[in-house]
Amino acid sequence: MAIARTIHGDVDPSTLGVVNAHDHLIRVGAGEVYLDPDHLLIDEDKAAQEATYFVAASKRFAAGGTIVDMCPASSGRGVLALKRVVDAVEGLQVIAATGFHQQKVYLEWRQSWVNQYTVNEIADLLIADIVEGIDANDYMGPLVKRTDIKAGCIKWATAYGKITDWEAKTGQAVAIASKETGAPINTHVTAGTCGPEQARFLIDQGVAPEKIAIGHIQRNWDPWVQEQITKLGAYVELDGTNRIKYVPDNARVNLVKTLLDKGYGKQILLGTDSGKASYQKVYGSVSGIDYDPAVFCPRLVDDEGVAPEAVQDLLVNNAATFFAFDPLG
Ligand SMILES: [Zn+2]
Repeated sequence: MAIARTIHGDVDPSTLGVVNAHDHLIRVGAGEVYLDPDHLLIDEDKAAQEATYFVAASKRFAAGGTIVDMCPASSGRGVLALKRVVDAVEGLQVIAATGFHQQKVYLEWRQSWVNQYTVNEIADLLIADIVEGIDANDYMGPLVKRTDIKAGCIKWATAYGKITDWEAKTGQAVAIASKETGAPINTHVTAGTCGPEQARFLIDQGVAPEKIAIGHIQRNWDPWVQEQITKLGAYVELDGTNRIKYVPDNARVNLVKTLLDKGYGKQILLGTDSGKASYQKVYGSVSGIDYDPAVFCPRLVDDEGVAPEAVQDLLVNNAATFFAFDPLG
């Protein structure tokens, strides 16, 4: 039977409720934090409060809510802290990730384990995160201490306008891990670039298109680009809500409407990617992790004329399909 793999174990995918398909509750350190300290998310009480806002807003659309915490390997995963946050919030489920961020986040890359290990050795470590449990030390040192917290999806990320050799190697490992375990691949594109290229790369590696979601692809506001992905059978994951520094939200509304009109309403996932403290309400922002169920989807239904059933797909049903898998390993 298909399951969704959460921090608290395998669950019926229909229990996920409203799903934020890409977000960040906890990030305990590592490269992104070095590049910009705004990425540090170590306050568990604040994370629980931010998640509580999300669950509360989700009530309009479902009984509960699920946040997919997209922090990948050696990028600041603090899975024990993350589990404590989930334990503190009634009605919250969390799916943890394995896989990789883009090369740049790993700073000086020559001594990174990705550079030194073979593709199969790297894939085996990702698979162990999914079928055994994520390393409490996040693959940051020689000792691996597995927790009982399993990853339920795999991240892959690429650079601005190119897929580096290092990223092609992680892409091969990610593809193997997905094929061996059944877990879905949820990606990061940088500033809207390489979305269709990511999908084609993974499909060429033998990954089924319905196992692939191309993340942050709303940063490319050209619906033609989105369609190059959905035509392949993969998902687009739209986030970056309320980032006026990039574009106002009506562009996101129009993107959703265009994709719905073209018949791709079952291949859209929503997130907010509020991966910096300054993007979260508990740190003072006016918008946060709850933005889709609190603001964006009510807007679609109440003010933009989008059918409530279509919005239910965006928030609930599509993610219940995408994050479900028959465990193979
Ligand atoms: Zn993110």
